[in-house]
This record gives sequence, C-alpha cells and structure tokens, in this order.
Amino acid sequence: MIREIQTRTVLNRVGVPDSWFGLHYSMNLYRGCGHRCVYCDSRSECYGIDCFDRDVLVKTNAVDLLKNSLPRLRIKGTIGTGSMNDPYQPVEKRIGLTRRALEVIAENHFPVHVITKSDLVVRDMDLLERIGRVYSAVTFTVTTADETLAGKLEPFAPSVTARFKAMRQLSERGIHTGITLMPILPFITDNPANILTILDMAAESGAEYIIPFFGVTLRDRQREHFLREIEKVFPGMNRKYREHFGNMYHCPVSKAGLLEGILREVCGKRSILLEMPFYDPFDTGQLNLF
Ligand code: SF4
Repeated sequence: MIREIQTRTVLNRVGVPDSWFGLHYSMNLYRGCGHRCVYCDSRSECYGIDCFDRDVLVKTNAVDLLKNSLPRLRIKGTIGTGSMNDPYQPVEKRIGLTRRALEVIAENHFPVHVITKSDLVVRDMDLLERIGRVYSAVTFTVTTADETLAGKLEPFAPSVTARFKAMRQLSERGIHTGITLMPILPFITDNPANILTILDMAAESGAEYIIPFFGVTLRDRQREHFLREIEKVFPGMNRKYREHFGNMYHCPVSKAGLLEGILREVCGKRSILLEMPFYDPFDTGQLNLF
C-alpha cells in the first residue's frame, strides 16, 4: 500500500567521512521499498520501518523541504540517495518525487550520487546530465547474473539486463556509472561464474567502477525474514546459515579471497576501478579516489 506522510527533514548530514561514495548528505524521499529484496538491511529493527513489507511511505513535503534547505548549506557536497530505499522503486514512476528532487538539486548546483536497481533512472537522464556539470554518478546494484534467481531474491526490481542497458545509456551520456556488487550471498551467489558474468556485463555496459562486498549482513528481524524467504528458494539453507553463522552480523563468503582475486584480475584487464571517483567540494573540478 502507498501512504502519504509529512516529514520534518529530508537531508541528513553524513557524520563520518564516507569512504565509499564520498557523500556529505543522504536524502530519503520514501520510507520502505517496493523492490522487496529478500536480503534488504532496511528491515533491521534499528531503522524502525515496521511496515517495510506492507507499505511504502511517500514524503509529500520532501521537495519543499529540499528547496528550503539546499540554499542554506555551506558545503556543496554530494547528496546520496538509494541506501535505505530505491529512489526509482515502482511508485516513483507515478509520483515523480525523485525527479522533482533532482530538479531542485540541479537548480542549486549540488553534486549527486544515486544507487538503484531500476532502469527508470533513464527517464531522468536529462537532469543527471545537467547535474553532471558539477558531478553525477549512478551506481546499479547487481548481485547475480542469473535472471531467474534475481527474480526470487529481488522480486519486484527490474531485470539485471534492464539495469545494464540503463547503465550503458547513462554512461554514453557522460554520467559516471558503476556497480555495487553486494550482497554476495554465501552458498548462493558466491561462485566464480556468477562474478565473471557480472564483470563481463559491467565492462560491456560502461561501468567505471565496481564496489564489492563478499558477504551479507544479517540481524534481528531482517535475518528472520531473509532465512524464511531463502528457505523457500533453497530448502535447507535456513539451517545451513544458522549452523554456519549463528547470530553473526557480518556473514562473509568463505571464498572471498578467490573471488577478490578474480575481481582484481578482470578489473585490471578491463580498466575498471575498485574505488569510486567522487567529487571533492573543497577542490572544485577534482575527482578524488580514496
Ligand atoms: S532495492 Fe535496495 S532498498 Fe530496495 S528493497 Fe532492494 S535492497 Fe532494499
């Protein structure tokens, strides 16, 4: 169900230096996410989104808040969106909140970084190109090259093929693009063939960078949801995870070294970075690498 809410803030300052995406602010226009990925960390109790698998909340006053707050910000640092919910989840097609927020960001000359699993982002290519005069980057999350499996793990997200097609379109327009290769699920997607196929598709689609995480994070009700859903797809996996990881939060894949080696070798050959080039507001015009 889609529900409208009013919010007090739309931008949060990123407190510690963000070594992955170089963000200064995070922006959430929605609460909850219609893609319903089985592993989504936003279900964790600490975020307090009790309706995650039932409702998506639309922050109807978010764009007005953004209009008020951006001109007051001293540091023109990168605004990131897409870590707690997908800014291009299905409801965005009808509501257009992300598009309106990008218009405000473009008018105020702020840099932006979007994480998404949706090809709907292509709709806003004109704005991302405009924002790109300062800096814009779109990172697509890809966890498996197997479309059937993706349909089970990420049931309402666009296909992997659609994500890569969108990446190509954006990269051809000069927008920075790359992949968050995460989570890589132990015993499920942690095989070299999967990683090699994703890397191949990424290279063919113009990915500049790949940010991997060979494992998954699991805690409280999010763990219970994940194990319940994964058991439907892979009978016996619930027990295997519990035996192997117990209550661990970080659940790494055992072949992380092997997969990392493959990643480094392929990315080296195909000139793909393993760090993201991001915008430094204190050195305008420069892209930094951590
Ligand atoms: S797209 Fe991202 S935020 Fe949305 S459900 Fe999937 S993992 Fe969670």
